[in-house]
Amino acid sequence: MIFRRKSSELSSFETKSDSKSSGFQSISSIFKGNSDDPSLESVPEYAIESEHLIETEPAKPSPNKSVRLIQEIQKLPDKTIIPFVDYNEGQLLYPILSEIGQSSDNLSYLDGLVSDGILEKKIYEKLIVCPIHSDTFSSSVRLYCPKCHSMDVEKLNLFEHKKCGYITESSNFDFSDNEKSYCPSCKKPITNFEKEIRVPAMWYQCNDCSEKFDDAVVKLHCRKYEHDFDTNSGQFVSTFRYKLKNSEISVNSDTSEIKDEIQKLLVGFNFDSHLNYSIQGKSNNIHEIPIYGKNKTSGESILIFIKNQSHGIDQTDMNSILVPKLDIGPTHTLLITVSAITDGVEQLAKHYGIYIICEPDSSQIISAVEEFVSEWYSKNGDKK
Ligand SMILES: [Zn+2]
Ligand SMILES: [Zn+2]
Ligand SMILES: [Zn+2]
Repeated sequence: MIFRRKSSELSSFETKSDSKSSGFQSISSIFKGNSDDPSLESVPEYAIESEHLIETEPAKPSPNKSVRLIQEIQKLPDKTIIPFVDYNEGQLLYPILSEIGQSSDNLSYLDGLVSDGILEKKIYEKLIVCPIHSDTFSSSVRLYCPKCHSMDVEKLNLFEHKKCGYITESSNFDFSDNEKSYCPSCKKPITNFEKEIRVPAMWYQCNDCSEKFDDAVVKLHCRKYEHDFDTNSGQFVSTFRYKLKNSEISVNSDTSEIKDEIQKLLVGFNFDSHLNYSIQGKSNNIHEIPIYGKNKTSGESILIFIKNQSHGIDQTDMNSILVPKLDIGPTHTLLITVSAITDGVEQLAKHYGIYIICEPDSSQIISAVEEFVSEWYSKNGDKK
């Protein structure tokens, strides 16, 4: 494959054109900060990733950080990041993020890599949390006496000494001395609890009202705000694990070189050009475009999408291009790929005015893009 480079050069900030909801949210939130600063609007992507801005824009995936993260994930069991729940602080953390200089609660960074096709997101567990304070995860189980509602409830067992058949409450056996325990009835030493003692029954007893009962009242306790709630009223919070999608990485992540080349090409044609550019459509939704160009003279614009799929470009890929294309309404839309095009996609592209460049290697793609743009501007040459 032409796009494949050494893994140390892997860049992951490439195929942001997927407008899946998870990544989409994070992308728009990432760029909210940027758009407030008009001086950044016209700065190319590589300049936006200057050091000082990385500090202030923690959610922005930068290729180097993502590569380091991928390398870290490769060392993990099952190549999967699992969450760490800080029950004291009520926080969901991914400590591995701190190793690449991200805040460990920066889920949008991970979600960004999901929309890049680098990571796969799956449910890890469902936590039961307080229905009122659902952002705190610190709940614990509490048992109450059903009669007087005291918490001073004890769990009692019956113990049977198998040798002599004596059955009594567990509290009547003294196992405080591991070496020398004796049956209260036959006074024989008990050396192996597991083998010599049977537990025929278990129940609860309230130390306040002495009530004995089989089932204690179970409540969940919101530890941070110190109140109980019913187990059935609790809310579920999903936590997620992130697994490295091996197969996709080599295909999807190595497009930075070709993007840089095309950006240079557009600049040569008198375009303002940006990589991974966030642009607001007519619907006010924000779309991230892999390569965006706007002609400085004519104001005409071009969206260029890069999609490489081992299974070939299909209708789903086209749909993810169509949405931003229709919402933004550029002068031209290009899809460039080294992958095969599946049946029906070409007609769809033609119908919606999406021009497909499908070539086996990057230099051929770049010359095809060059040809496309120069043809476009030879038709209205005065505008160049
Ligand atoms: Zn609460
Ligand atoms: Zn009681
Ligand atoms: Zn005994």
